Amino acid sequence: MIGFDLTQEQIALQDMAHKFAANEIRPRAAECDRTGEFPTELFGKAFDLGLMTGFIPEDLGGLGLSALDACLIEEELGWGCSGIATSMTANGLALTPILIGGTGDQKKAFVEPFVKTLHYASFCLTEPGAGSDAGGIATTAKRDGADYVLSGRKCFITNGSHASQYTVFASTDRSKGHKGLSVFIVPRSAPGVSAGKKEDKMGQRASDTSDVLFEDVRVSAANRIGAEGDGFKIAMKTLDYARPTVAAMAVGVARAAFELAMQYAKERVQFGVPIAMNQAIHFMLADMAMDIEAARLLTYKGAWLLDQGKRSTKESSFAKAFAADLAMRVTTDAVQIYGGYGYMRDYPVEKLMRDAKLLQIYEGTSQIQRMVIAKEIMMR
Ligand SMILES: Cc1cc2nc3c(=O)[nH]c(=O)nc-3n(C[C@H](O)[C@H](O)[C@H](O)COP(=O)(O)OP(=O)(O)OC[C@H]3O[C@@H](n4cnc5c(N)ncnc54)[C@H](O)[C@@H]3O)c2cc1C
Repeated sequence: MIGFDLTQEQIALQDMAHKFAANEIRPRAAECDRTGEFPTELFGKAFDLGLMTGFIPEDLGGLGLSALDACLIEEELGWGCSGIATSMTANGLALTPILIGGTGDQKKAFVEPFVKTLHYASFCLTEPGAGSDAGGIATTAKRDGADYVLSGRKCFITNGSHASQYTVFASTDRSKGHKGLSVFIVPRSAPGVSAGKKEDKMGQRASDTSDVLFEDVRVSAANRIGAEGDGFKIAMKTLDYARPTVAAMAVGVARAAFELAMQYAKERVQFGVPIAMNQAIHFMLADMAMDIEAARLLTYKGAWLLDQGKRSTKESSFAKAFAADLAMRVTTDAVQIYGGYGYMRDYPVEKLMRDAKLLQIYEGTSQIQRMVIAKEIMMR
């Protein structure tokens, strides 16, 4: 009836992602964190291994991986460096709306090129005045004959300054709030598109985060995904898919912090014994191990529901909120176990704590996940 064994193929995928994280991501992580460099050459290697195209269906040339497969990979990438993993995964977030709501021709035109060569795509929902409340989006798309004209500014966009294609949520009818949102595919090359300032962030500094501006940008109506007014529904469905992936990344971050804390606790001697001999430290490590396992199981459940073609809104939010909060808790406790050394940049755990904070903010804050869960448990 139920089993937790992975298949041979899943073990091989997990192993490949782990080796990539250990041999390619980790050696670059500290430097990219310090400099904020976007490691293009690393993404090239990941692309060649299929680590950036797994979510694309086989008929479009991708690997057609399941949601669970994607989570197995993501945990390993998050274990390597969540900043690098966030940028590696952003194409999935940007192209999923097309896979959900696009026609066959749109999938060929806007998704297939991402299998052939390494390009970046960005998901453009957030604006200065509309974060948690997407209904407040002020970017407009006005119909003009066979085209739409888009105007507005998006902020905090992952890979925004590197993307060749943007998935843009804009209002086609502002009087309808979130029901008036529609989604458009906008090429970077369209006149009027520009990337604004790159953000200087607390954590996940290898990932690019930028403003993207749309000034009277003309796109064909053939670039609209779904019908007018479908934008919010498509965005929410996309997030149902993306949230278990973020949860898996959070499990990876927490696991990295847990492993380091356990090793340090065995090595650090105070009062004549390793600090690992103290019950206070045992309990911190035991809580970490227990919560990591719980977060992983919630993540697998959310992904499994998606793979069964079932509604997973509640479970995707369970996983995202629990795993992001857990990553924050575990990384903070790892700094505690390292003591003063944990607070220093020479040691790896303070980076994990800074990186973890973002997991509680993007793709819906931890508060918004609880709002989604409350709605699901009270209204259905
Ligand atoms: C590094 C980074 C990368 C990002 N990448 C992308 C991207 O690629 N594409 C994209 O579209 N967006 C992206 N975002 C935006 C991200 O999704 C938003 O920051 C997030 O949704 C929160 O919006 P906000 O920052 O405007 O905060 P606000 O919505 O202003 O929220 C502020 C605080 O109020 C709380 N809050 C808000 N409303 C309620 C409520 N009703 N009840 C209780 N609490 C509430 C929030 O939980 C939060 O704690 C990114 C953000 C960051 C920081």
